Amino acid sequence: MSERPTVEEYLKNIQERMFKAYKCVDCGMIIAPPSGSCYGCGSSNMDWAKVSGNGKLISFTVIHIAPDEFAEEAPYYVAIVELEEGTRISARLLGFDPLKPQEVKIGIPLKLDYEKGKSGKTYLAFKPA
Ligand SMILES: [Zn+2]
Repeated sequence: MSERPTVEEYLKNIQERMFKAYKCVDCGMIIAPPSGSCYGCGSSNMDWAKVSGNGKLISFTVIHIAPDEFAEEAPYYVAIVELEEGTRISARLLGFDPLKPQEVKIGIPLKLDYEKGKSGKTYLAFKPA
């Protein structure tokens, strides 16, 4: 855990379904997606942090016009999720009918999952906990 975290490693961890966030060594703030400096104190002194994968739904939208990688899956949800460790990330939201957004409630508990795109790349996703 003494290696300085890099964006490359962050993405590689996701490919291996082992999502980890950054943690500011100076103030303890958990940071994801990766940032060169801490949102809390401005430090660039980062380490890795394991995260629980538990979070809650902050906001979402329905994607109808998708990039190639997900074109065949549209429409689908993209959500902003607040992890219980405090940071907010955007990711796919699974487990709901994209044609019934009125059934998706803000604040519901979510659990980390993963999802593959057309290219075979793995992405972060969340589903109801
Ligand atoms: Zn900090």
